[in-house]
Amino acid sequence: MTGTQFIMDLENLCPCCSGNTYAQCCGRFHEGATPENALQLMRSRYSAYALNIPDYIVKTTHPKNPQYSKNLLSWKQHSSQFSQNSLFHRLEILDFMEKEKEATVTFTAYISQNNRDATFTEKSHFEKMDGCWLYRDGQKV
Ligand SMILES: [Zn+2]
Repeated sequence: MTGTQFIMDLENLCPCCSGNTYAQCCGRFHEGATPENALQLMRSRYSAYALNIPDYIVKTTHPKNPQYSKNLLSWKQHSSQFSQNSLFHRLEILDFMEKEKEATVTFTAYISQNNRDATFTEKSHFEKMDGCWLYRDGQKV
C-alpha cells in the first residue's frame, strides 16, 4: 500500500493507530488544521511519514531542530525516501507530558526496512511557537 493510494480513501483507519478514520484523525491536520496538543502533532507526524507527506514534516519541525535545513528540496527528498523505504506497522505511545510551551512524547514506532525490523523508541521534545506545536528534537531510548 503506498501513501498515494491511502490518501485516496479518507475512510481508511488512520496509520497512527488511533482507531479513528484518517479523515477524523491525522487527515485534518495534514489538510491544515492545527493540532491542539503535542500528542496530536506527534501522531500526525508519524502518519505523515507513513503516507509520504514530506511537506507536513517540514512544516512541523522547529527551526532549532538539528535536522532543520534551509535546503527544503533535499530535506523533503530525504524524508520522502525514508517513507518509501519503510513500512509503518504500528505506533505505540508510551508516555506523554505537556506543559504550557513544552511537551515530551515517548513512543515506539514499529517499522521495517528491506524486510528488516527497524523499530525504534524515541523520546521526542516539542515546543509551542506562535500557538503551534513543533517537533524540537528527539533521543532514542
Ligand atoms: Zn491519526
